[in-house]
Amino acid sequence: MADPKGFMTTPRREWPRRPVEERVRDWHEVYVPGGLLPIISKQADRCMDCGVPFCHEACPLGNLIPEWNDLVSREDWRAASDRLHATNNFPEFTGRLCPAPCEAGCVLTINQPAVTIKNVECAIADRAWEERFAPPRPPDRLSGRTVAVIGSGPTGLAAAQQLTRAGHTVAVYERDDRLGGLMRYGIPAFKMEKHHLERRLEQMRAEGTKFRTSTVVGQDVGAAELRARYDAVVIATGATAWRELPVPGRELAGIHQAMVYLPLANRVCEGDLEASPVSAAGRHVVIVGGGDTGADCLGTAVRQGAASVTQLDIYAQPGAERDEDTEPWPTYPKVYRLSAAHEEAGDLRTAPAADADARLFAASTLRFTGDADGHVRELHLVEVDARRRPLPGTERTLPADLVLLALGFSGPSQGDGLIAQLGLDLTPRGTLARDRAFATNVPGVFAAGDAARGQSLIVWAIAEGRSVAAAVDHHLTGGPSRLPSPIGPYDRPMRV
Ligand SMILES: Cc1cc2nc3c(=O)[nH]c(=O)nc-3n(C[C@H](O)[C@H](O)[C@H](O)COP(=O)(O)OP(=O)(O)OC[C@H]3O[C@@H](n4cnc5c(N)ncnc54)[C@H](O)[C@@H]3O)c2cc1C
Ligand code: SF4
Repeated sequence: MADPKGFMTTPRREWPRRPVEERVRDWHEVYVPGGLLPIISKQADRCMDCGVPFCHEACPLGNLIPEWNDLVSREDWRAASDRLHATNNFPEFTGRLCPAPCEAGCVLTINQPAVTIKNVECAIADRAWEERFAPPRPPDRLSGRTVAVIGSGPTGLAAAQQLTRAGHTVAVYERDDRLGGLMRYGIPAFKMEKHHLERRLEQMRAEGTKFRTSTVVGQDVGAAELRARYDAVVIATGATAWRELPVPGRELAGIHQAMVYLPLANRVCEGDLEASPVSAAGRHVVIVGGGDTGADCLGTAVRQGAASVTQLDIYAQPGAERDEDTEPWPTYPKVYRLSAAHEEAGDLRTAPAADADARLFAASTLRFTGDADGHVRELHLVEVDARRRPLPGTERTLPADLVLLALGFSGPSQGDGLIAQLGLDLTPRGTLARDRAFATNVPGVFAAGDAARGQSLIVWAIAEGRSVAAAVDHHLTGGPSRLPSPIGPYDRPMRV
């Protein structure tokens, strides 16, 4: 703590975003380039170096937050990078994408705004790349043991990097043509540009991890064959089975799942397509689902030039302050948050029906109606109470010629045959069952990430990847693993 009074004298300042009018005309990250470094050391000074740092408790990675806040306030970037990389393989991803449960748990939030922990993390990570503080770390010697990791999202990549560095020979199998899981084709470039991903993948290749893209395990290569070929298998296939909206009119043309829409937009940014076949350009767009995936659709539709965009959330509008009875500090509260996409929608008034941003809260979809060609034209909704009961007299329609369903995901997809081929047990929730050592019911096969935990966050995915790597290392060597294991399979975010 370079300045013991920093939290009293310095107000919180975040990495400024570019003006809305400017940023909606491109797909670059929303933040002002170079806008973080000039403010960040002073911000890190606000950290009180708490005796019991709840920021650290709230982070599944166990990030050493007070330590790197101190190092950044003293501008010792190399040491800060070492401390950051000691607990997080990919801080440039979480520094941009994490909803920052650490900030909700920061002791300062008891009576003032939290330390900008996520910004500090991002500044260290970016500086580490610029100054080459985090070069490839290939193992000193090979163990002679082999591991197949199925899935290249943050879970699979973290597991693969840890196991490679421990000396095992690791191949990552990915069904898509490019690596990265949801960070590649789900999350839009305005939240995280893909060169961050490429840079890490290059580092991993240099360390010795092998990648096999465009390979669906279960179809292009048999799951049982993979199990026979490798000493261990890690299933990190994500929770990609999306939830449906079974209401009349669902079959009309122009109604798409978010994870059909977003990958096409991402492919345009990658240069694979000239234009998306499912574009919002000139259309009245309604997004059904109030979560982050819906917000990503919103930002994408705004950039594609939608005529209007509205986002429906079935929950009532949360308050501005945390509910001290149900979600007291240091838990992560459900409060009204204005993401960059919502800020854009509010400024541009994309949804004339909604005030501050594009969202209509407590809104439930009743049905869709279409034109003579079978294309959706209207969405009929009703307001609901807290128990989702329709409120009489509140039915209304919205113009809708593109509807995007962003209703969440139920578990791993089963269409590829992987689960059946291995005979893997599922939990009653439809996720992969595993024991306390991340092991499935099939010997030598481990499960991690959203596929086993259910839909979650990148920070949890990286923590899962690190922990499953420790479990696999123990399985392969028979001795205690030196790899860190930040979470157990049944750990959950802090709640009352
Ligand atoms: C649109 C969207 C936006 C999000 N935004 C954020 C955010 O801003 N911040 C945040 O923290 N979290 C966000 N999340 C959640 C986060 O992306 C996930 O929790 C995280 O990616 C899960 O990581 P994973 O590695 O377990 O799975 P995934 O990232 O889903 O990766 C699984 C990989 O396995 C591959 N695969 C599946 N089956 C097979 C097979 N049979 N053979 C070979 N490969 C296979 C898939 O193609 C995929 O690449 C978002 C999610 C979505 C959908
Ligand atoms: S809880 Fe907040 S103030 Fe305390 S050590 Fe963590 S970041 Fe610093």
